[in-house]
Amino acid sequence: MQDAKNLKEYRKEIQESLNNAFLRQTLDTFAVAYRAGRTKAFAEAGIDVKSLVAEIAAAKDGMLPRLMELYDQFRQNAEAAGVQVHFARDAAEANAIIAGIAAATGSQKIVKSKSMTAEEILLNHALEDQGLQVTETDLGEWIIQLRHEGPSHMVMPAIHLSRHQVRDLFADVTGAHQEPDIEKLVKVARRELRSRFAEADMGITGANFAIVETGTIGLVTNEGNARLVTTLPRVHVALLGIDKLVPSLTDALRILKILPRNATGQHITSYVTWITGANECAAAPDLKKEIHFVVLDNGRLEMAKDPLFSQVFRCVRCGACANVCPVYRLIGGHRMGHIYIGAIGLILTYFFHGPDKAKNLVQNCINCEACKDICAGGIDLPRLIKQIHVRIQDRQGHPLPGLLLGQVMKNRKLFHTLLRTAKWAQRPVAGDDGFMRHLPMMFFKDHDFKALPTVADQPFRDRFPGLQRKTVKRQGPAPPVKAALFSGCVQDFIYPEQMEAAYRLFADHRVAMSFPMAQSCCGLPLQMMGEARTSREVAIQNIRAFEREDVDYIVTLCASCASHLKHNYPVLVADDPTMVEKARAFAARVIDFSSFAHDVLGLTAADFAGDGKAATFHAPCHLCRGLGVHDAPRALLRNAGLDYREADESEVCCGFGGTFSAKFPELSAELLRKKLDHVEATGAELLLTDCPGCVMQLRGGLKKRGSRIVVQHTAEALAARKKTNI
Ligand code: SF4
Ligand code: SF4
Repeated sequence: MQDAKNLKEYRKEIQESLNNAFLRQTLDTFAVAYRAGRTKAFAEAGIDVKSLVAEIAAAKDGMLPRLMELYDQFRQNAEAAGVQVHFARDAAEANAIIAGIAAATGSQKIVKSKSMTAEEILLNHALEDQGLQVTETDLGEWIIQLRHEGPSHMVMPAIHLSRHQVRDLFADVTGAHQEPDIEKLVKVARRELRSRFAEADMGITGANFAIVETGTIGLVTNEGNARLVTTLPRVHVALLGIDKLVPSLTDALRILKILPRNATGQHITSYVTWITGANECAAAPDLKKEIHFVVLDNGRLEMAKDPLFSQVFRCVRCGACANVCPVYRLIGGHRMGHIYIGAIGLILTYFFHGPDKAKNLVQNCINCEACKDICAGGIDLPRLIKQIHVRIQDRQGHPLPGLLLGQVMKNRKLFHTLLRTAKWAQRPVAGDDGFMRHLPMMFFKDHDFKALPTVADQPFRDRFPGLQRKTVKRQGPAPPVKAALFSGCVQDFIYPEQMEAAYRLFADHRVAMSFPMAQSCCGLPLQMMGEARTSREVAIQNIRAFEREDVDYIVTLCASCASHLKHNYPVLVADDPTMVEKARAFAARVIDFSSFAHDVLGLTAADFAGDGKAATFHAPCHLCRGLGVHDAPRALLRNAGLDYREADESEVCCGFGGTFSAKFPELSAELLRKKLDHVEATGAELLLTDCPGCVMQLRGGLKKRGSRIVVQHTAEALAARKKTNI
């Protein structure tokens, strides 16, 4: 459970997790095995995952306008089947209702199966405060209960612990020697828990589904303990969020198709239990079990009404967004969440536990979009996380660096003047190899994991007129393709040679190019800092800068810019009907470098004179997930005659993330270390990528390692091997 008061304290907690070698190794092993298992599970079942996700999203979204009506129907159907249904507005009310049921039924001993909703309301503490004995019966939950800590994963609550730690814990609990053997430890737990089941007065569960048409609840488990919890005691209480409502069994079965596969790569869990009404119970005086459903709001209804956040209702709590999150993989759930963890945890923490608990967490997202890509409900998690950051800053105040950056960036002339001035200011520390020689490390000691580039002598915008003069005549009249170039600030002022390379490549293919001088930074760094207003202002400036360009395409060599221009600009100006039309027209023309070169220009092996150099590719997050581009850059590199070698985890984030690497250098350094290890293992001489930010991160890291691997933008590698460069 992350409880740090400020970012400084939070970074200390992060460092503690990074120092935990066991945690790191466990999460690494799990992340790799999970991806393979999930892919296999869906492939073996022949499931079209995208369509299934879209169906789940549509069904859940369709419920929202009649949510309370559906709740009423569920309540009536459950009550008709003999269940008592309670509605709790918040955690305190839910705890009071359940404690009241315990008192009314004379229940002293309670057994529980796994429930994140119970964790959310701190139910165990509330019941124990009433003098009740509560025992968790899911193995992982029992372990963390004994350790007095919260879950570190929604599906695997004790994933952070080694069998040796569990052995020591069980030795303390049983007072007997135990061996660090998982099967034996499971038997110990069974032995210890069996009597608790038999003695319990009340069983408490969560629920994965609440089926409106029948008043049924569904439970999806692996250990069988939930069956004992729901059958042996004379009272059963199911605590469930109102988001668990689904209209019909068909809707529940649709979710069941994705839930275990997305959660753990299993086709189906060991137990799926459906409960409709009160069943027989030998322990009850009248042989009839007493059943209560406690349906919880606790911020969910506010979410359901919010046009942006209502999509959170699609969450099926599979935990996959943590499984693929590169930050979770480094620091685990106790630092990447409060009660709920991973991407969805950052969002739920804000709604269920308030902005103070969420304010550090939401900054710890590198915006890699891995969670969005895998989400069973198709939730745009990174967008929601960024939006929470904006809301918190709007309420609690914006930090000075973000405000200053916003003021500078929205004034393009001032911003560019400062970048031009940096060329002179950097002279005392600039080396002659494109890197800073040294930085005042007392200010930057955490950032020493990579060398930083210098600002270029001449930005691309100053080189463009000369390039035009050289090429326009040679291209002849009426070139078939017209494109405007969007450089983004990094390629304009730091790596103009990448833009030049693309220019030469495109010019050879008779592309007529323009470069609107009023263009500026895409505004993504401002978005990452939670500066939504200035990010919007910069977006409008760029839309206007390209408005009058008579071109078919707006080509950018930066995958992050491309994804931001394409997907975020229409959203940023959504409140202005005129501007949103313009933003959509602008976005429709935006294309990334590799897609343009491969799909539009159709560059083939005949265009290149290859040299067979060993090369590998790092797929920028916003290229492979943001834009869904996977094959084009790799095909281009093969066509260019390079000896292409795929690196392990080539689509996992390199740790740049714009302002993320400045805010969380310890995480950025670790992500980079892993990435470079994978790159070096390929034996490649060339490392290519489609994003200047990734070039900066990878090149700076390899320089620090003293590596001879050359990092380039794909455009540079292609231009260098093009048969007829202008
Ligand atoms: S965008 Fe990436 S870093 Fe952020 S929560 Fe999702 S997976 Fe984690
Ligand atoms: S947000 Fe998506 S991936 Fe994360 S737990 Fe919910 S359904 Fe699963």
